[in-house]
Amino acid sequence: MKKIVLNPKRDYSVVHRHPWIFSGAIRGVEGNPAIGETVAVEDAKGTRLGWGSFSPSSQIRVRMLSFDPEREPDAGYVTGLVAAAVGRRADFWVNCCTNAFRLVHGESDGLPGVVADWYDGWVVVQLASAGAVFWQDTIVEALKSFVPECRGVYNRSDVDSRVREGLPAEGTVGVLAGEEPPELIEIHEGTIRYLVDVRHGHKTGFYLDQRDARAVVGSLANGTEMLNCFSYTGGFGLAARAAGALSVTQLDIAGAALELAKKNEELDHLCGTKVEYVEADVFKQLRLYRDQGRKFDMIVLDPPKFADVKGQLMRATRGYKDINLLAMKLLRPNGIIATFSCSGAVSEELFETVCREAAFDARREFQIVARTGQAADHPAGLFFPEGRYLKGLVLRAMS
Ligand code: SAH
Repeated sequence: MKKIVLNPKRDYSVVHRHPWIFSGAIRGVEGNPAIGETVAVEDAKGTRLGWGSFSPSSQIRVRMLSFDPEREPDAGYVTGLVAAAVGRRADFWVNCCTNAFRLVHGESDGLPGVVADWYDGWVVVQLASAGAVFWQDTIVEALKSFVPECRGVYNRSDVDSRVREGLPAEGTVGVLAGEEPPELIEIHEGTIRYLVDVRHGHKTGFYLDQRDARAVVGSLANGTEMLNCFSYTGGFGLAARAAGALSVTQLDIAGAALELAKKNEELDHLCGTKVEYVEADVFKQLRLYRDQGRKFDMIVLDPPKFADVKGQLMRATRGYKDINLLAMKLLRPNGIIATFSCSGAVSEELFETVCREAAFDARREFQIVARTGQAADHPAGLFFPEGRYLKGLVLRAMS
């Protein structure tokens, strides 16, 4: 049997159902497992603790698939995990508030490295770990059979983590089953429509995880002059527009994202809101607005991940503090800042501290009117704190 044996006293995290085993916890590997293959996991005394997928090149050497010593994962087991994850989204299928949501959310759904998103008829997958790729065919088959009215499965596994996993960069994008998706898939959240480019978009095409935050921003946007920093395809700005913002400025460094934001605007003929598009670096543009004396009633800051790993924390906190400080100074009295961090390495406490320091330096008092996090289709496993990566603070200036 292929197996790994843990070092003495390094079984704590597996026993406590954490899905990652780091290379330093491993005393030995037996049976020469191939990349992604399933290995039994034993403690130093030879007691089997479960089963995981072997990643020979990654620091995370094994990702747990089964914590049941008697249940070695096979295709039927993996199919069951996919079916269970899809089944947990039953509410999303029936309540119809949206036709785009996450079906499988990696470790937190018991399927390490596996992401699958639903975009009105198409499933887009991201297989980011050796084990996920090892089980690719089984996972695709399962999605096809358990997702109702699935027209096709598309692969968007062109992610950096594949390199760390020692997986080939080829064959990561394209149709895996069924039909080719259209160039743009139209989805909706409530009454707001968005076009999604699943071939070239970020992640699998859209920031589905910010759905709840978009609703909160919308609920506060009526009558405001709103600045949407790091707008991507316009999500928060479109939510503010639908809620009756006076003006929306969509600000992003990527022209292609802004072009799609404009197409999104054109999907609905709402004429009350003036929308402008600014292609610029947020760090520079906020300084320019400061120098021009421009003010806003609402500012959204939803930057890309500033820290991938703990080692980049200093740089990341400097980045968050800089943009938050600048934005706080651009706010009118009683204005709202909705500020986010999707860096897993930055904890909720640290993020709040950074915002507190920014407010202090801006010499303005704020109150927290809402905290947001990833939407319910992006759950975080209770045994997997790393699964809670997205945090948001909605702050109101008190003067
Ligand atoms: N708020 C978006 C998602 C933001 S993703 C949504 O809800 O859909 C991060 C975006 O930041 C990307 O579109 C990227 O092009 C943009 N970006 C990254 N660095 C930037 C910078 N320095 N200035 C402006 N935009 C930047």
